[in-house]
Amino acid sequence: MEEVGTGLLDRLDAMQRVAASAPGGPLLIVAGPGTGKTRTLTHRIAYLCAELNVFPERCLAITFTRRAAEELRHRLDGLLGPVAEDITVGTFHSLGLTILRENAGTAGLPDDFRIADDADRAAARDEAGDDQAGYTALLRKRDLVDLDELLTLPVELLRADPKLVDRYRDRWRWIFVDEYQDVDAIQYELLRLLSPADGNLCAIGDPDQAIYSFRGADVGYFLRFSQDFTDARLVRLNRNYRSSAPILAAAVQAIAPSSLVRGRRLDPARLDPEAPLVGRYAAATVADEADFVVHTVDELVGGLSHRSLDSGRIDGRSTNLSFSDIAVLYRTDSQAAPIVDALARANVPVQKRSHDRLRDRPGVAAIARELRHADGLGGGLPARVRLAGQVVADRFAAPTLDGSGTVRPEEVRAAVDLLTPLARRCGDDLGLFLSQLATGAEVDALDPRAEAVTLLTLHAAKGLEFPVVFLVGCEDGLLPLRWPGTTPDDDAIAEERRLFFVGLTRAQDRLYVSHAARRSRHGTERDCRPSPFLDVIDPGLFERLGDTEPRRPKDRQLRLL
Ligand code: ATP
Ligand code: MG
Repeated sequence: MEEVGTGLLDRLDAMQRVAASAPGGPLLIVAGPGTGKTRTLTHRIAYLCAELNVFPERCLAITFTRRAAEELRHRLDGLLGPVAEDITVGTFHSLGLTILRENAGTAGLPDDFRIADDADRAAARDEAGDDQAGYTALLRKRDLVDLDELLTLPVELLRADPKLVDRYRDRWRWIFVDEYQDVDAIQYELLRLLSPADGNLCAIGDPDQAIYSFRGADVGYFLRFSQDFTDARLVRLNRNYRSSAPILAAAVQAIAPSSLVRGRRLDPARLDPEAPLVGRYAAATVADEADFVVHTVDELVGGLSHRSLDSGRIDGRSTNLSFSDIAVLYRTDSQAAPIVDALARANVPVQKRSHDRLRDRPGVAAIARELRHADGLGGGLPARVRLAGQVVADRFAAPTLDGSGTVRPEEVRAAVDLLTPLARRCGDDLGLFLSQLATGAEVDALDPRAEAVTLLTLHAAKGLEFPVVFLVGCEDGLLPLRWPGTTPDDDAIAEERRLFFVGLTRAQDRLYVSHAARRSRHGTERDCRPSPFLDVIDPGLFERLGDTEPRRPKDRQLRLL
């Protein structure tokens, strides 16, 4: 535990300290990438609890992803120690679930209602046909709740009962929302109900990193915070601690044409005069681009064939980098395969965030069923998961029927290993555990400590940082992304530019952008132009790598001859 007391805000700069120690009332923190949003948010909560005697149980901190919620919880534990456990930290969906569980009866649900999984939904759809009201009635008859209803039902409950609103406003007198630029209409409505217009709502975010409008998020809520909440205080954080000066300058120029922040400023805290420029590589083909990545990774980390003997060298200087310092980012998942293949051929370990859902793994369904039906299993949740796994394996000595096919004992063991971290995170709350499974908890394959190069889509990279970043496929049609036969409108282009900005600002020390002259998409290979987003960046910030003129692919040359 870190020292609490006078030193608590010492690790913040002047503006971060203003934000962290601001008095109660609505507070909007507008903060660009790398300006220390999470650091400021956690220190504000810790400061309020440790210095101003705010009760931790009066605090509610909301984030958008489970991963972000865990990170927040972890940092609060570090700052406050055991009392941090009393702070409610969660996602919008887990908040909705909490409210619904506490008011199940009023919502016409039994206490042990479940969240509908894909099979439940498909069955209800089949039976109800086109009748949406019919569909909901079927779910209700089966004591099931749809995922969307985790937000809509609590909002309905609160709208109908002012006393209930008062109860929750009394419980959570301090509300903190991270990534506020990505709230959607129903999340906003829930927040409005939970926090009065003059309440202690602290929203933090960056409108220029709003990248989820395709999912219904509306950056408009961020922009009109001061109208929605009375006498809102505004604090801006402009000092970027993450990126070298050339990387930051390129990023600031890149976002300028679409910036939603008036007078956007991002001042580099890092002023190393030797910082490398942004590397730019014009590849002939996708394979050439992948080779460029492999070749550069080799240079950075050291001879791949004998890397234990020598560390990487660039310009005669040792880089001291390892694979885990490197990320490759791309716009669409389909771009990953050629890069993964090329890295694998060079024996570079890679990890790619898995979107596999836990419940789709063999054995998981059988274990979940066992947990749901067997009340006799004692012990904490992780122990019960282990026991349930044993019961499944014993009962059906191999091969085991899993509903969808056969499952082998080693698959049951693997399923137990996969489920244990989730069980641990859910405390002893079996209902929460089962609902997390049903709502699609993912097999978390991304380990920040793994000795591997990380491959991620730009959306998945949000909030993360890496010493070395490759942003591949910087081509017109990919960035901005264009579907065949469609022309993106201005709003769509602006969102793509924000996504590009998110990508550039993940890099700490070295950033490489690349584009290929030919790429096949949707089954057709065609010529590609570099992304127009690159044009607004001062050419002096780039170092051209490899050939200055893009090479023509061989087959094309032949055809031209
Ligand atoms: P993003 O918008 O990309 O999510 P962020 O605003 O959340 O960025 P953080 O990830 O919290 O930024 O911080 C970026 C980096 O800067 C981290 O490595 C963090 O430790 C560091 N940092 C933040 N504040 C300070 C500070 N006052 N002194 C030194 N380092 C800092
Ligand atoms: Mg962040």
